[in-house]
Amino acid sequence: MNIVETSQEIRQYLTPLRHERIAFVPTMGCLHEGHISLIRKAKRLADIVVVSIYVNPLQFGENEDFDTYPKTFDNDVEICKKEGIDCLFHPHNLYPEDGMKVSLQINDMQHVLCGKSRPNHFNGVLTVVNILFNIIQPQIAIFGEKDWQQLAIIKRMVSDLHMPVEIIGSEIIREDDGLAMSSRNRYLNPKQRQQAVLLSQTLTKIKNNIKSHQKTAEIIQISKEELENHHISIDYIEILDETTLKPLASINSKARIFIAAYIGNTRLIDNSKLTSMEKIA
Ligand code: AMP
Repeated sequence: MNIVETSQEIRQYLTPLRHERIAFVPTMGCLHEGHISLIRKAKRLADIVVVSIYVNPLQFGENEDFDTYPKTFDNDVEICKKEGIDCLFHPHNLYPEDGMKVSLQINDMQHVLCGKSRPNHFNGVLTVVNILFNIIQPQIAIFGEKDWQQLAIIKRMVSDLHMPVEIIGSEIIREDDGLAMSSRNRYLNPKQRQQAVLLSQTLTKIKNNIKSHQKTAEIIQISKEELENHHISIDYIEILDETTLKPLASINSKARIFIAAYIGNTRLIDNSKLTSMEKIA
């Protein structure tokens, strides 16, 4: 496995391999089973797999965890070797010294869900994904459904800008009790870890109650109150169209439920597809 740190090096590495099918898996490191599932999918779908590890400063807000974001590089290297990836791209910095003078603007899709409480987050994500796509020029790129809004916005960017890359979503990998795996789960103390399982349990409960014909708005309100009783601070619980991220008049095959909440200072997100045909009222 090659480990490279500059865009020149990775371009050089990839030049003789351009006739092969190249898959790209961008990450911020601290790799876990969720990331591994993306890597395995990439290996199934392509000849060459490139993984990047870069904690992107542009996608963190001022009071967020950029400085404390967990770093486990040696372990990440072992995982990548074991999974048989071809190249690990680990840049120190991807931006000009005097800052980016060009940026991409996302419209309505960034003003919902996580975008409301993280105003510049998705601009930062799209900027780094663009830079990485331009350097690596993969045929396919794999993103986790855990960060559904990110996946939906990236799909839309690629489609709007006619970018020559196929975006592939990969299912959420969970702990045995249902908690969606996340590098940020490391921040949780044992008590918080127990509380964190309530997020996925809440999604399941809401889905089941919707199936039993209760009113969606009421179910969501009751769930919010239950979580607050457990000292969980909710950012949002919402049902939206999974492609456009717009509200739905009734639950259809595109409906997906999204949750974000703080357990202590740790912000966790999760989502799940809804399938029944109830009215949202
Ligand atoms: P991150 O390192 O958190 O930026 O995540 C890198 C990629 O891994 C993103 O595409 C995430 O959506 C994906 N990912 C993170 N956690 C999971 C998970 N539990 N299941 C599936 N994909 C995940």
